[in-house]
Amino acid sequence: MSENASLQLDHSLEATWQSILDLIRENINQRSFSTWFAPVKIKQIAEDFIEVIVPNRFFCEWIDNHYSKLLQNAIAQILGDAKKVKFFVDDVKQKSDSPYSSSDWQSRSPEPAVIQNTIDLPFSTRINERYHFDNFIVGDNNNFACAAAKAVGDAPGKTNYNPLIIYGRTGLGKTHLIQAIGNRALIKKPSTKVYYASSETFTSHFINSIQQNKVAEFSAFYRSCDILLLDDIQFFSNKGKTQEEFFHTFNDLHQNGKQIVLTSDRPINELVALEERLISRFKWGLVVDIQPPDFETRLAILRKKCDESELDIPADVLEYLAVNLVDNVRELEGALTKIMAQVTFTAAEPTIDLAREIVAEIAKPDKQMLNIDTIVEYCSNIFDVSKDQIRAKSRKKNIVRARQVAMYLSKQLTKHSLVTIGLHFGGRDHSTVIHGIDAVNTQINEDHVFKKKIDSMLKHLEYNR
Ligand code: ADP
Ligand code: MG
Repeated sequence: MSENASLQLDHSLEATWQSILDLIRENINQRSFSTWFAPVKIKQIAEDFIEVIVPNRFFCEWIDNHYSKLLQNAIAQILGDAKKVKFFVDDVKQKSDSPYSSSDWQSRSPEPAVIQNTIDLPFSTRINERYHFDNFIVGDNNNFACAAAKAVGDAPGKTNYNPLIIYGRTGLGKTHLIQAIGNRALIKKPSTKVYYASSETFTSHFINSIQQNKVAEFSAFYRSCDILLLDDIQFFSNKGKTQEEFFHTFNDLHQNGKQIVLTSDRPINELVALEERLISRFKWGLVVDIQPPDFETRLAILRKKCDESELDIPADVLEYLAVNLVDNVRELEGALTKIMAQVTFTAAEPTIDLAREIVAEIAKPDKQMLNIDTIVEYCSNIFDVSKDQIRAKSRKKNIVRARQVAMYLSKQLTKHSLVTIGLHFGGRDHSTVIHGIDAVNTQINEDHVFKKKIDSMLKHLEYNR
């Protein structure tokens, strides 16, 4: 083979592997992708197997346990059929060059990660099989949204919730919930034509179809769905033509009793650049919101993830994460994944110190340490109680409030552990500190005057540190 031909071959090998990786990336979160797939290199694609190079043995086991179906499915989609995967541990690092085939995936029942439709669609349903109701933790913040989503998954197009619209800030579980609807419907009736897309995907399909003179095919495809799951409709803002196309798709599906589910990062009334006629259609159905989870729900989410990964992380480490990462489940998960990766790869102990480092990285980079005593003193002035009263055991309402706010500010503005903070407040234990911080968080959510007060206290301390 000429050098040129072999170069070309290598290039197409790389390109093929890149396409497989792209599909995987679409189906897992960014952090998992960069931890588990970005370092994997392709070695060979043969007739009935492919060989990949991984940095160490943990990769083989981890990928096999967590992502085998996803990987298999991506391979099948790109290469046209399933192939056994052989792992080579990077021998420069590991001094082992024997192929490590963790298992023969081909012999397993072919249960694809991306559930295929039975009709001949131009693309798969694009649903990620890891999003289910079983692994969605229900709390006060999302129980209504979750109940409505289940009802829709059970009887798509047959409830009054059409469209069902789920809104909430980023990282709170909208994509998980909307895809869980699709998975539930597919489990009940595998022939259901479910299609999931973000509004950006819808837009780019539409634009491509115009460029390729295939608008009729585009319309026919979207109108053939039994359930259309459209994520992040805020991206439709200011896209007049796409909105118009969506309006017609919407009407068509709705008239034919098909289910439409939408998500948005804000309430529909705040989707300012959306046409009025679309907004009024949206009001035909049910709009539900997802709020940030409370402490118990955050902890339950972390516990569930630990169970799924069969990793034992001490309770106080989980509590530390749950106390400190309050308004984005994706960040909460990301912190846990980092801890797991450290524990798995470097044999680090999953300690509070490790958790603190990771939280500091995520939540507040470069924060200079403020002194807890300074914060106590400041709160004593603002709430007009003495420093000793804040530290003592009094249950008087105004003193308790001053104490809780001081605990909250200490958490926000210092990197001290809950145990250390507790010690500065008359030797209270960390669960009392958690309770104090949660009480402040609750009032912040309910009372905007209070929220303003806390914000200005935070600013004052930040600027005067
Ligand atoms: P959004 O679409 O609202 O930005 P996602 O659905 O992508 O958020 O959620 C971010 C991550 O958090 C996902 O991995 C999701 O599985 C997880 N997650 C969010 N809420 C929950 C929950 N209540 N229970 C379990 N996992 C959750
Ligand atoms: Mg999302």
